Amino acid sequence: MHLLIPAAGSGSRMKAGKNKLLIDLEGESLIYWTIKSVFSASTVSWVGIIGQPNDKKNILHSIKSFSKKVVWINGGETRQESVFNGLNALPSNAEKVLIHDGARCLINPNLINKCAMELEENDAVILATKVTDTIKIVDNNGYIENTPNRQKLWAAQTPQGFLVKRLRKAHEIAIEKNWTVTDDASLFERLNWQVKIIEGNSSNIKITSPLDLKIAKLFLKS
Ligand code: C5P
Repeated sequence: MHLLIPAAGSGSRMKAGKNKLLIDLEGESLIYWTIKSVFSASTVSWVGIIGQPNDKKNILHSIKSFSKKVVWINGGETRQESVFNGLNALPSNAEKVLIHDGARCLINPNLINKCAMELEENDAVILATKVTDTIKIVDNNGYIENTPNRQKLWAAQTPQGFLVKRLRKAHEIAIEKNWTVTDDASLFERLNWQVKIIEGNSSNIKITSPLDLKIAKLFLKS
C-alpha cells in the first residue's frame, strides 16, 4: 500500500515559529513519531512525505534512518494542493493510496492496517470517531443557528484511503470548479461518491495547539 503524509503546513495555530511537525516531543520530532507508526503498519510498503522545500533538510534529518525509506515531495499552499502534488508523485503502479496527516502522530499502526484492508472492499474509506459533544451551528455574529442530530455526527480523522484514479479525478474536478476542502473525503461527498466510515479512536488527535502537545506527551509516556 502507498501512503502519503501531508506535512507542508505552517502550524500557525501552534505559535512555535516553525513547522509544528519539527517540534520536540519526548526527545524526537513530532513527524518522527508519525513516520515510526506508519512504518510499523505491515500493509504499508511505500511512503511519500509532502513538505515545504525549506523544511526538507530538517524533516529528513529528524526522522533519522527512516529518511532513506521515504520519497520527498514538495507541498503546496493548501493541504489540498499538497495532496494533489503527492498524487502526481505516486509511482504509476499505485492503485490505492492512504493519506495520513503528519500532525496525527499518535496513530495506531493497527488502524492504518484496518483502513488498508477496508480499502479492498471500498473505493474510499476514512477513519472517524463518534462525536460526544453536542455540536452547534453558529452564525457570524456568534448566535446559534441550529443543533444537528448528534446520532449522525462523526469527527473525520486520517488515514483516509482511496482508489488513486478516482481521487486524482476528484482533485482535477475540484481545481476546475474552484472547490476548497480540508480533507479528501469532502471531494468524494461533493461528487456523490460513497465513502465508508471506519471507527477509530479518540487518541488519534491532530496536534494543533500547545494543549494537544501536552496530551501527546502523556500518551507517548504511557
Ligand atoms: O492545518 P492542518 O493541521 O489542518 O493540516 C493538516 C495536515 O496537512 C498537516 O499535517 C499539515 O502539515 C498538512 N498541510 C500540508 N500543506 C499545507 C497545509 C497543511 O501538507 N499547505
